[in-house]
Amino acid sequence: MEPIAKFREIVKKQKAYGYMLNIIGWDSQTEAPREAFARRGEMVGIISGEMFKLLTSQDTIEGLGQLFESMDQFDDATKRELLRAKKQLDKIIKIPENEFVAYQMLLNKAQMVWQDAKEKNDYAAFKGVLAEIITANKKFAKYYAPEASAYNTMLDDFEEGWTMADFDQFFDVLKKELVPFVRKLLAQKQPPVAPFVKRHYEKEKQKEFADYLIDVMQFNRNRGLMKQSVHPFTWNTSPTDVRFTNRYIEDYFLSSIFSAVHELGHAIYEQQVDTKWDDTMLNGGVSMGIHESQSRFFENIVGRSHLFWEAHYPKLKSIFPEQLKDVTLEDFYRAVNRSEASLIRVEADELTYPLHIMLRYEIERMFVEGDLSVDDLPRIWNEKSQEYLGITPKTDSEGILQDVHWSGGMIGYFPTYALGSAISAQIYQTMAQEINVDQAIRDNKLGIVTDWLKEKIHQYGSSKSPKQLLEEVTHESFNPHYYVRYLKAKYGELYNIKED
Ligand SMILES: [Zn+2]
Repeated sequence: MEPIAKFREIVKKQKAYGYMLNIIGWDSQTEAPREAFARRGEMVGIISGEMFKLLTSQDTIEGLGQLFESMDQFDDATKRELLRAKKQLDKIIKIPENEFVAYQMLLNKAQMVWQDAKEKNDYAAFKGVLAEIITANKKFAKYYAPEASAYNTMLDDFEEGWTMADFDQFFDVLKKELVPFVRKLLAQKQPPVAPFVKRHYEKEKQKEFADYLIDVMQFNRNRGLMKQSVHPFTWNTSPTDVRFTNRYIEDYFLSSIFSAVHELGHAIYEQQVDTKWDDTMLNGGVSMGIHESQSRFFENIVGRSHLFWEAHYPKLKSIFPEQLKDVTLEDFYRAVNRSEASLIRVEADELTYPLHIMLRYEIERMFVEGDLSVDDLPRIWNEKSQEYLGITPKTDSEGILQDVHWSGGMIGYFPTYALGSAISAQIYQTMAQEINVDQAIRDNKLGIVTDWLKEKIHQYGSSKSPKQLLEEVTHESFNPHYYVRYLKAKYGELYNIKED
């Protein structure tokens, strides 16, 4: 058999294993009964083992080696696919097996240690495993790419092609342009949270509105569905099967509205990828940053716009006539765009959110590239929090211990959250030159917007790198000024802040 045909066969088999594991994963996070866990764990272990054997078999390694030698004969997409396959393989085989196993056990333990430490506000109990996780990740990064800086390797893992130089430039702009603006806003006396926000909203009715949003966003119900889970997420095996979850908090109904719009942004992206990539390694959304740009575009730029609520507030009001009877469109718009100094990242507003991320990026950069001791982390966290957000955590639980990422070994992940928002503003700028976005939002015709995204971004799946994709869509490389301009225009108007 031709090496490329052999490669195709292996990829297809890998897809089949992945498919099973995905479906099982979806089931366990949504519907599976408690006592199913042990048995399922066993089955998952066997399937994962088979998949691992396939990926690391002599056949696979040699086949890929042969293909690499004759790289020139392939088109760009296939070349890119082979490079991705090689990267995936390297991730597995370059780490000595005993170190890999020890690391998995460390992560397992870290999860519980972190949860306990967060609950008891006891950073001292966590810092030991954190130090071990950092050390292991630095070591692994050197196995993958001995020449590269460890943090660059980690960043590339979450956002292909993105380095410290790129992110430094991005966060420098935020520091110079956004931090002073946020300071002005936060210095103003804030009106209290509007009482209607905390009223009681029945779960069933919240779900009814989320269901309405599915059609507003033009999500294809024949290719997907919505369920409930503790933390909302989007899941897919191919564009023909894209699922997402939502959650309903009865005394905080805004949460279910914006998490539905956010997840729908991810889900529409996956639904609109061309199915021709299904059996290749170029399927699905290309990167964390580009994916997050789609979800945050819909959540913030569309979903928190005045135009969007001009179109949909009457519907929301008809579902909750009692709770919203004294609430005008204007009240509602202001409430969903309220900005304040806050400590917890996941509850932060659109404006201050990227500053939470900047803080984490700078700390990661210091502990991976510098020789910052884990003993110093809480102090540095608190100082930066004061500097960027104007507020100091009273406890480590609401400071350095708040996020799950580091205990899960995810170092280099955070910056993609802020990158996504910034990319969404850049894409929006181009989109607005090519189609009438405002009118589409106001007239409840988001299909015009999703069609544009399909043509320019979604259809390509992962066949282009994130940087290439952004450049082709917007005709320039990443430019964070669009993001800063967008935020300043919106919040300048809302809070009446004049620029000097
Ligand atoms: Zn997201």
